[in-house]
Amino acid sequence: MQSGLRIGSIFGIPLQIHPSWLIVLGLLTFSNGLNWQADYPAWGATTAWGVGFVAAMLLFVSVLLHELGHSLTAMAQGIRVNSITLFIFGGVASIDRESKSPGRAFLVAIAGPAVSIVLSLSLFGLGLLLPTASPVAVLTTDIARINLILALFNLIPGLPLDGGQVLKAAVWKATGDRFKAVRWASRSGLILGWGAVLLGLAMVFLLNDSGGFWLSLLGWFGIQNAQSYSRVSTLQESLVKTTAQQTMTRQYRVLDGEMTVEAFIELYFQASAKDNTPYFCSTDGRYNGALDVSALQNLERSQWQVRKLREFATPLAEIPTVTEETQALEVIQRMESENLTYMTVLSPVGSVAGVIDRGDLVRSVGETLGLKFPSEEIQRVKEEAAFPQKFQLGVIALATELEPELETPA
Ligand SMILES: [Zn+2]
Repeated sequence: MQSGLRIGSIFGIPLQIHPSWLIVLGLLTFSNGLNWQADYPAWGATTAWGVGFVAAMLLFVSVLLHELGHSLTAMAQGIRVNSITLFIFGGVASIDRESKSPGRAFLVAIAGPAVSIVLSLSLFGLGLLLPTASPVAVLTTDIARINLILALFNLIPGLPLDGGQVLKAAVWKATGDRFKAVRWASRSGLILGWGAVLLGLAMVFLLNDSGGFWLSLLGWFGIQNAQSYSRVSTLQESLVKTTAQQTMTRQYRVLDGEMTVEAFIELYFQASAKDNTPYFCSTDGRYNGALDVSALQNLERSQWQVRKLREFATPLAEIPTVTEETQALEVIQRMESENLTYMTVLSPVGSVAGVIDRGDLVRSVGETLGLKFPSEEIQRVKEEAAFPQKFQLGVIALATELEPELETPA
């Protein structure tokens, strides 16, 4: 639900409205207007429709305040909020990454319903002070009721609802396993979603209540979202459990550091230039470092026979490296944020054990998920140095919190 019309921003968060929200606005104005004309004939039609429209707009404000509750709590934890979008089923705050601990995740989850409850109680209180059956009193009480529904509905314990996030935080706290927590909360979301679909259909076909369509649709939306939580979590788990050692290949070349630049250039152009094979050089069995081929491009031709490769090597201590135990998650995060085409894996004695590029990551993470990528596709990823559109490991990894407790001690 990322798409939507941007209508402004609040606390620096872009605020978007999905076209489906307009359906809600229209339906709500219509049903409020009809109900209030019948309930309060003294108002007259214009007032009833007008108050109906204002009530629909205030639902918008209520949902926005609910989402701001989540967003500001996340921001207080140093997490970026990309947008708040209002759509047919309410609002959604797109939060950059998850909280670092179950306690913090709980706070982000509960902040939305807490805002709605506080609003509801204040408005119910205010409604008692206003003259009965006046448009302002009816409006106030109606918005109070809507906020109460917003809070209670969202506390249903299944993803993607806030209650599902609370359940996730609780299971995470109890088991220490964030992935198990998401599995439980999304399974619960699936069960509740299917429950809503079936109940809705029963309402339609057994009771002739067309409101059941809405419930079924809501359930279906919940199922889709619960499944996507579960998919992302499974992927994150495999990124944490796959090690650099399982991912790395020996697709690199070690050259003699005493080789002249001229000899190297001949060799380099014999090997087809299409692959991004990393080069290292060593002298007498000791690594000089990684060879920076681009540094050779500016070298004057007269120097080619004189200069040695080792002069252009960057020591292994100065290039980005990981150990064999490093999680694939960290490898990807660093490759994405440092814009690397490959990562060097060092052995315990400090020599090159292997290299990892994006193609290797797609293959090995895919394997742990039971996905088989054709070798042509892996080769394309290697050449383009970009993750495939349908397997965006970079995006997922950057949104995943590193877990120090799962790292094997080096
Ligand atoms: Zn919420």
